[in-house]
Order: sequence, then structure tokens, then C-alpha cells
Amino acid sequence: MMRPPDATAVVDREWFMIIDNQPVGAVDGGRLEVVNPATGQVVTTIPAATEADVDAAVAAAKNAFDGWRRTPAVVRARLLNEIADAVETHGEELARIDSIDNGTPISMLRNDIRLATTQLRYFAGLALELRGQSIPPPAGGLNYTVHEPFGVVGRIVPFNHPMMFAATKIAAPLVAGNTVVLKPSEHTSLSALRIGELCAEILPPGVVNVVTGLGATVGARLTTHPDVTRIAFTGSVQTGLGIQRQAATDRVKTVTLELGGKNPLLVFPDADLDAAVAGAIRGMNFTWQGQSCGSTSRVYVHRSLWHEFLDRLKVGVEKLQIGDPQNDETDVGAIVCRSQYDRVVRFIEAGTADPRARLIAGGDVEGPDAGLFVRPTVFAFDEGDCDSPLLNEEIFGPVLSVLPFEEYDEVIARANRLPLGLTASVWTTDLSTAMRATRDLEAGYVWVNTSSIHIPGAPFGGFKNSGVGREEGVEELYSYTQQKNVYIQF
Ligand code: NAD
Repeated sequence: MMRPPDATAVVDREWFMIIDNQPVGAVDGGRLEVVNPATGQVVTTIPAATEADVDAAVAAAKNAFDGWRRTPAVVRARLLNEIADAVETHGEELARIDSIDNGTPISMLRNDIRLATTQLRYFAGLALELRGQSIPPPAGGLNYTVHEPFGVVGRIVPFNHPMMFAATKIAAPLVAGNTVVLKPSEHTSLSALRIGELCAEILPPGVVNVVTGLGATVGARLTTHPDVTRIAFTGSVQTGLGIQRQAATDRVKTVTLELGGKNPLLVFPDADLDAAVAGAIRGMNFTWQGQSCGSTSRVYVHRSLWHEFLDRLKVGVEKLQIGDPQNDETDVGAIVCRSQYDRVVRFIEAGTADPRARLIAGGDVEGPDAGLFVRPTVFAFDEGDCDSPLLNEEIFGPVLSVLPFEEYDEVIARANRLPLGLTASVWTTDLSTAMRATRDLEAGYVWVNTSSIHIPGAPFGGFKNSGVGREEGVEELYSYTQQKNVYIQF
């Protein structure tokens, strides 16, 4: 199916923040342009909030807290299910908005709608699982624990799954009885604003507030605000480190961080080669332009498979159709914004200029005048690891590096050598190699003979600099509560 003629109509309207269930602009009238990265066109504008706007959103959330925490958990769950229904009903609209705003192919964003509704319903279903314990006291009476919400949660999300993060990252805090101020990325705020509108039709005023604008203003005020005692951040390591510092300015706050990775995929000599090649391509998330935190970005291939693997990888990568994100047939869309595009191009230029890196596929870029497109790119490092930035820094673009290895211990050490540890993927038909590797890899989420699949309810999060805390499972729900112990002597 080709792109519908009115595909961009969904964004062609006035956009407002949602504070206390009301649509509002920034107090000083400031706005930011929204650019479609596939065309370079300014498609609309969003409010550029000031610190005063953040303060208003936090005040609304604080006012709403008492009522929301006293709302029975089953009622909170029912309302969350209504949000899931609304996301489903408006799924095509939300997917279109993200595709225009973020540049990702529409087919991938439709999948995000399915993931979002699953996740919202999963957390709604957990509402009655927030259970305390009874601990027998030595001197009689009753001792028990309860899980209480923190209050106002500051929830900051990145650009790469705009609608899905806006919808799902509010679920656990709400079920636990907190109110939320959500701050989406300044590059992709539209679907979060639409989610805010949908929430305003379902939730009491102030329970969910959405503020838009720059990280340095809006994000910084949210993380330092004295009435925000629980901060949850998804984004880059650099911003995450800053948020930990900001959050500690003059109050003790609970902070969880979901950060970046430089994720390895290991192909052992007994692997199913075709499956491993397909797994590396899927793992790299070329269909998200490589902009997924769990993306494979370093592939270690046993020397015995080296040439065959590269040949098949090149064929697979070159089959991917790059083009208009609005088309159903497109596999790879546009990079989210100019600064991210320039960053990815710098990595590709570093690779093409480096004699240690051999270009296997891609390497050419089409923009920026034709839109921010980067062809899926693969470099082989025949001599192994080195100080190339392609092997040491998160690129967050469609650029994959492949390296040979000889021995088990050597490849595990090389996979673990960076201060990051979000995901890893292992390809082998030998059970003991699989078991050893899952034990030895320093990563929060390890796949064997698959890649990039999130299991609903399974905890997602990072080792080392990739983060603190776990999301997507019951741990996330508990992370939005603080335990209270009660001892009644009688
Ligand atoms: P980013 O860190 O630049 O921005 C993320 C958010 O933080 C944005 O909303 C931004 O406005 C805000 N922000 C920026 N400066 C801030 C400040 N000083 N105080 C408070 N907030 C501030 O990240 P990005 O470029 O939007 O996203 C890409 C990064 O996100 C990658 O590193 C990727 O790996 C990571 N990520 C991690 C996960 C995960 O679950 N671990 C998921 C998706 C993305």
C-alpha cells in the first residue's frame, strides 16, 4: 500500500502541553519547530516550556496526589485499561504522528502500538500484586509492611520510541498510586502530547501532566524540583550521569536510569549461520535506523565462520529498503534529527578513513537535503578490537561493526571490556557454551539464539553504566513504591 495523500494531516494542528487536564502553552509563548526528518519540512510547533510551566505541572501533580493514592487500586487499574483501549483506538493516528515526527517506518510504529497496549494492560493487571508482608513480632501484636507511592514522579523519556515510552512509562507509577509529570524528547513530543490529551479524557485532573521543551530547561527543572522525589529517566549515559548529579542538588531523591549500550552479539563456531546473520540484522534494529538502546552494535564472529558470515550479512543488509517512512514497504526510515544525523555521519566518516575498518555495506549518506537518510552500514575490523570510536562509543545509528575471535575466554573478555552492559546475544547450538556465556556476559538482558525480543513481564535494564533499576516487569511497579513497616503491639 502506498502512502495515503493526507498522511501528514495528523500533525497539522495546534499542539499544547497538558497541565491539570488543560491544554496550555508556555507562559512566555515560546515554541519549538517540529521537523519531519524524512523531508526537512517544518510540520508544526510545540510549546517550549519555561521553569514556571514545569512548576505549574508539578503543582498540579502534587494537588492530585492525595486523591489518586486513595483511589482504590482496582479503579486505578480500570482507568489504565481505558488508556490502553484509547491507545488502541487511536493506534493508526499515533503511529502516523511518530512516523512523521521521528522518521521510523510506519510498520515498526504499528508494532509499538501493540507493545504499548500489552504493557499498559500488563501493569493494570498487576494492581492487586502490590502486596506487603506480615512478619511475626517477638513480643506479640502484629507487624506488617505496606507499599506506598512516592508522590510526584518526574518521568523523562528519549526520542526513539516516542509513543510507546509516553504510554508505557506512566503505567507503573500510576498503578502504584503516584502522579506523573512526563517530559518527552524535544525532537519527538507530538505523540506524548496526544497521549496526554487521551489521558485527560480518562484520568482526574493533574494525575498525568505532559510538559515539552528543552532538556536543559524543562528536564533540569523537573529533576531538581523539591516536590519531585522520584525520578525515572530513559536516555543517554551522559544525560543520566547529569541527572544523578542534578537530583542530588539539595534533596534525597530516588532515581532509576535506563541508559545506553554498546551491545555485543557472539557467533560461536557451531551456530546456525543463517539464523545468526538474520539475528544480527534484527538485533541491530536497522528498521529503527539503529536507534534502539538494546541494539546489537558489535558482532563477534568465530574465525572459522568469518568470511561466510560477512558475505551473508552483506546480502541481508543490502536487501533492506530505505525510503519514505510513511510507506508500508519501507524497512529503514530517516534519522530523527539533524544533530543525530551529523553524529552518525561522523562515525561513518571515521570508519571510512580508518585503515583498520573495511567497509562491507552502506557507507553512503543521502542527506541532508534529501532527508536525513543513512544507508545501513557495516564495517569489518579484521584485526579485532582497537581504539576506533565505532567499537567504543554508542552510535545510536544504523552502523554495525563485525570482528573475528578465536577462543571462548577471549571473546567474553572482549564483549565485557566496555563500561556498558545493557544487552548481549549468543548464537550457538551447544548448550554448555550457551549456559557459560549467559553466566559470564556482563549485561542486564541476554538472548540465546535470538535478539532484540522483549518478553512481557521480564525485567529490562542495564549492568554498569547502562543503568540502575529494572523496568517492564513487577520490579518496575515496586520501584515506584516505598515500603512502610507497621508494628502494632497488643
Ligand atoms: P538524551 O539523553 O539526549 O535525552 C533523553 C531525554 O533527556 C530527553 O527528553 C531530553 O530532553 C532530556 N534531557 C536532556 N538533558 C537533560 C537534563 N540536563 N536534565 C534532564 N533531562 C534532560 O537521549 P536521546 O538522544 O533522546 O536518546 C538516545 C539515548 O537513550 C541512547 O543513549 C539510548 O541508548 C538511550 N535509551 C535507553 C533505553 C533503555 O531502556 N536503556 C531506551 C531507549 C533509549
